[in-house]
Amino acid sequence: MRDVLERYIYRPVDLEYEVACKTWALTADLKPAAVAFPRSAAEAAVVVRLATSEGLRVAPIGTGHNAYPFDGQDLSDTVIVRTDHLNSYQLDPEAGIARVGAGAIWGPLVDMIGEHGLAALHGSAPGTGIIGHTLGGGIGWYSRALGLAANSVRAVELITPDGSLVRADEDHEDELFWALRGGGAGNFGLVTAIELQLQPIRSAYAGMLVWDLRDAERVLPVWANWAEDAPDLVTTAYRQVQYPLIPQLPEQLRGRRLVIVDGAVLGSDEEATRMLMLLRALKPKWDTFARVPARSLARLHLESEEPSFGGVRSALLWDLPPEGVERLLDVSIDDSLVLTTELRQLGGALRRPAPSGGVLNRIDEQFLLLAGGVNVGGQAHRTIEAMRPWSSDRNYLNFTQQLVDPATGFDPGAWQSLRRIRRKKDPFAVFRANHEIPVI
Ligand SMILES: Cc1cc2nc3c(=O)[nH]c(=O)nc-3n(C[C@H](O)[C@H](O)[C@H](O)COP(=O)(O)OP(=O)(O)OC[C@H]3O[C@@H](n4cnc5c(N)ncnc54)[C@H](O)[C@@H]3O)c2cc1C
Repeated sequence: MRDVLERYIYRPVDLEYEVACKTWALTADLKPAAVAFPRSAAEAAVVVRLATSEGLRVAPIGTGHNAYPFDGQDLSDTVIVRTDHLNSYQLDPEAGIARVGAGAIWGPLVDMIGEHGLAALHGSAPGTGIIGHTLGGGIGWYSRALGLAANSVRAVELITPDGSLVRADEDHEDELFWALRGGGAGNFGLVTAIELQLQPIRSAYAGMLVWDLRDAERVLPVWANWAEDAPDLVTTAYRQVQYPLIPQLPEQLRGRRLVIVDGAVLGSDEEATRMLMLLRALKPKWDTFARVPARSLARLHLESEEPSFGGVRSALLWDLPPEGVERLLDVSIDDSLVLTTELRQLGGALRRPAPSGGVLNRIDEQFLLLAGGVNVGGQAHRTIEAMRPWSSDRNYLNFTQQLVDPATGFDPGAWQSLRRIRRKKDPFAVFRANHEIPVI
């Protein structure tokens, strides 16, 4: 197997190395000792053993949607393992459980299970990796009703530092199972497969309300106030966005500067209409909210499915009182409008700890602020800094694209337990996550 595998490992001397190092995050400049593309869990285990036998570390990467923290790091002692080929999708419709391989992304799973009237707790982009998203917490359009995606994990299979394949679930490897659900997969091994509890959701009342950017001053105060008290069945996002002139976008959005509130309601049409009444009273130019198949939610946010030169800076906000709204509008709307300023509505079930959840089983804050574009060091950074009076000290690491102290992702007690488990399971720090839990 080792000889065969050699054909799928690229080192700096190989012509393919440069391309193999590219991920979805095009600005992340990665220069590892090698990049491997195993085609099965067994091959992935051989790669881990090969790497450790040469004294190298292992960094699992799926799509690279959060490869940014590796940018500029010395990776000369690290083999990046790309899981692209481990992209299997299986469904047990009776049990409502999906089993997917490490390279699986949301789009195909949501389509497949949608045909059976089932839904998963996916995020806003169909191209993000299921493993990275889910084991980093996972928020999406069902979050305020159903909580974090990490709470829907039934089992995780992974290759440990010695190259063996282990299953972590309710009955096996309980510490590992706890740490993996929110602690970031790459700190404990190379995950080869995950099993998710699905939800019997066929449709939702979902869509977008769209205004001109100049209406932001009218819309944001109302949305921010509404968002804090809205029923748990509704989850939305508020965005100020400058869309590029690209043919992939609907004509009404192309090249325009807009305010958009999009989201989904899990309830009857009557309940949804009542919940959205206040926002609709703000007279959007377009209102696409209607009953839609649940599977269409994977593309509701119109995220780019192509690799991107952009990025975001993020902060968790406790609340957004009128002074906070004013500050955000001041800093985010000027001539050099950052491509996107976005607020995700949190709260609801996200705030309630799941009874037998993992290390990250709730988020206490009310909003997640994202400021994104091609110049995240400049305007986006300023937007985040301006909102410090309303920010918490915590980071949501899934959306943290720069190096931070990873302790900021967790409660202090949970962080101590995570460190202990990491020391126990990977004492020689073989695995290297984007947000690495230190062994020492
Ligand atoms: C456009 C965009 C939209 C997003 N929308 C949402 C959203 O709606 N909700 C949300 O919660 N997040 C969202 N995110 C954040 C996203 O969930 C994280 O970036 C997540 O890490 C993506 O996982 P990935 O596997 O695609 O990325 P990768 O960069 O491949 O993985 C991130 C990290 O996960 C770990 N990992 C991945 N695969 C494995 C594996 N097989 N074994 C071990 N470790 C592994 C590694 O430590 C890796 O460094 C979004 C990000 C982007 C860029």
